[in-house]
Amino acid sequence: MTNGTQNSPQNSPDGDPRGGAGRGTAVVTGASSGIGEATARRLAADGFDVVIGARRLDRLERLAAETGARALPLDVTSDSSVAEFAEAVGGCRVLVNNAGGALGLEPIASARVEDWQWMYDVNVLGTLRMTKALLPSLVGSGRGHVVIMGSTAGRGVYEGGAGYTAAKHGVAALAETLRLELSGQPVRVTEIAPGMVRTEEFSLVRFRGDESRADAVYAGVAEPLTADDIADCVSWCVTRPPHVDVDLLVVRPLAQAAQHKVHRVLDREPPRH
Ligand code: NDP
Repeated sequence: MTNGTQNSPQNSPDGDPRGGAGRGTAVVTGASSGIGEATARRLAADGFDVVIGARRLDRLERLAAETGARALPLDVTSDSSVAEFAEAVGGCRVLVNNAGGALGLEPIASARVEDWQWMYDVNVLGTLRMTKALLPSLVGSGRGHVVIMGSTAGRGVYEGGAGYTAAKHGVAALAETLRLELSGQPVRVTEIAPGMVRTEEFSLVRFRGDESRADAVYAGVAEPLTADDIADCVSWCVTRPPHVDVDLLVVRPLAQAAQHKVHRVLDREPPRH
């Protein structure tokens, strides 16, 4: 991880006189892998007291042992799990709504309703549940920040992706609406919308464990984004001075000019989805 000199006062644009130490509590959902795990590591290095949540507690506990974060079980699709989690967190200044994912790549004609239900529940309703539960303490902190992990799938559509793009468009609408509703309150709202990020599990989950289909997503792409790239974006957004609200940060790998235009250098055609 690249935390280098970030905690020196000169590099503390949010005005923390202690140079980043003791920045308050940051909650990261979906921290058991990928972007959430990298974000938790990065925010801990930045000086936040990090609380991490996901369903796989064993993975969270390993991360907690390495970073000093506090690990708590969390299922963002369950009202009671979110309520227990929020109660255990106590005060909170930053909430990173990262838990989410895609399931399936079937066209609408053969889409599975249950896949769409899962995607809406985890991406949209999960963000809603977490934000509702922690909003009082974010407001009470006097400088709260809600970060929402959207996607370029929330800015455009692609064939076979309607369930996921609909969910991420929903996430984008939630972020924009929340910012309007919080006008006058000390809480910033940032949507980060990554393009292709090569994480261990995202495509494996999408293709239900089919490794060859998951690998094909990244075939021939010189440098997809990494989880650390997105953690860097989160870190930058939440360490701006409190009056600076980064509304939307769209970030793609150089090789991905648009959702449907990915530069690939291939020896042979990639397997079709
Ligand atoms: P991963 O599959 O690696 O991570 C998803 C995380 O979400 C896991 O930690 C998982 O933990 C957690 N999660 C899933 N369901 C739940 C649940 N019900 N309750 C709590 N946590 C849950 O994917 P990425 O790291 O790649 O993706 C993270 C976010 O970034 C997602 O919102 C994704 O949509 C978004 N994104 C990803 C991109 C990519 O190309 N990878 C591009 C753009 C956006 P557990 O299973 O332990 O609960």
